[in-house]
Amino acid sequence: MKLEAVIIGAGPAGLMASIARAQRGRGVLLIDRNPRIGCKLLISGGGRCNLTNAEDREVFLRRFGRWSNFFRPAFYSFDNHQAMEFFERNGLKLRVEDNGRVFPASGKSRSVVEFFEALLQRCGVRVRLGSAVVDVGRKDGGFAVILEGGERLDCERLLIATGGASFASKCATQGDGLAWARQMGHRVTRLWPHLCALRIEGRFESVKGITLRRVRIKHRCGRHRIDEVGSLVFTPDGISGPVVHNISGHLLDCDSPELVLDLLPEVSEADLECFIRDCRSLHPRRKCSNCLAELLPQNLARFVLGKIGERRCGEVSNREVRLAVERIKRWRLRVVGGPPLEWAFVTAGGIPVEEVDRNTMESKIVPGLFFAGEILEVFGPSGGYNIQFALSTGHLAGRNL
Ligand SMILES: Cc1cc2nc3c(=O)[nH]c(=O)nc-3n(C[C@H](O)[C@H](O)[C@H](O)COP(=O)(O)OP(=O)(O)OC[C@H]3O[C@@H](n4cnc5c(N)ncnc54)[C@H](O)[C@@H]3O)c2cc1C
Repeated sequence: MKLEAVIIGAGPAGLMASIARAQRGRGVLLIDRNPRIGCKLLISGGGRCNLTNAEDREVFLRRFGRWSNFFRPAFYSFDNHQAMEFFERNGLKLRVEDNGRVFPASGKSRSVVEFFEALLQRCGVRVRLGSAVVDVGRKDGGFAVILEGGERLDCERLLIATGGASFASKCATQGDGLAWARQMGHRVTRLWPHLCALRIEGRFESVKGITLRRVRIKHRCGRHRIDEVGSLVFTPDGISGPVVHNISGHLLDCDSPELVLDLLPEVSEADLECFIRDCRSLHPRRKCSNCLAELLPQNLARFVLGKIGERRCGEVSNREVRLAVERIKRWRLRVVGGPPLEWAFVTAGGIPVEEVDRNTMESKIVPGLFFAGEILEVFGPSGGYNIQFALSTGHLAGRNL
């Protein structure tokens, strides 16, 4: 028997698509290889699942930069505020935290998974868990979905929502959907890590573990400029933390690997210069790095200032004062890479958006085939944006499947 519609992948994209389709009274079979739905939802947000972000809709959309246009129809069909209303209306209480991040009020991602389990049941979605799909192909104007063990399911319409290729060891998301899409004539762009730490030229052992609450990172890649402020932590071979995660995918996609750190964004260059000059007259015998320890962790001040930090304040020349200011306010670092894709929270790259109809999520190459979620090349910053992208694109795909 030929099924009407099959959805592969019970992450936020596939779950939302199944519900959107079922709510219109249409039959659907949802398949996932894991024994439980929402494997990534469970581990998201440190086990608390940052579902979306409550900020203004247009601001939210702009966070997707060059993909905002592609994302617009899906987002407006089910935006962040509609998503919040959907969760609350169907019984999942939410809590909005700093920077608009939205979590389940229980503080546990398990509640999100339980919410979807209950809703799937209420909507009558057929679910097959613990069933890995091993191959997908076109067949008689529809699709053949081959399961581990050899069983074949035929369907008229198919949504591939198998996510990216990162965190494979935890959730078995190893990019299977990308391989099937390629087989059916789609291009798949290069894949690279996003929401991850960055490796920086040099050694950072002496400052590893130091966290700064507010650092400004600037970077320029062609016409694209990054200027972000947030928390940063030094690792033995580079930098990590929310502000780094947010820009990691963009930086690892750029030919110019240099970024500029401002370690004291709240202090102007002129004020910092005055501060060091004052140290020179008030504490001529103190080490320069000791004086700066009033503004920065001492180890970091020593590391950034190098030899100047070891000098007594009274011996520091005007040129060295300006150099010290430059190092703190415009510290140039060279990115040499990211972690393996496996370690990144999100996969950057995937199915190129030009090959997908943004008004329906249907493939422009294979009629009846749909994509949603992280399998697309799009990636967003941390703060609930990636799950919302999956929910919105899944919702639109489910309505058109
Ligand atoms: C540790 C971590 C923390 C994160 N925290 C957040 C956060 O707090 N907020 C946020 O917005 N984003 C977060 N993300 C990113 C977010 O989880 C993903 O972007 C989002 O889950 C993608 O949704 P998706 O439905 O496209 O794919 P996924 O959630 O990856 O779901 C894909 C599903 O497809 C199934 N599948 C894959 N291959 C097959 C196959 N061959 N056969 C059958 N089934 C298959 C998988 O089992 C999986 O359940 C985090 C990611 C990680 C790894």
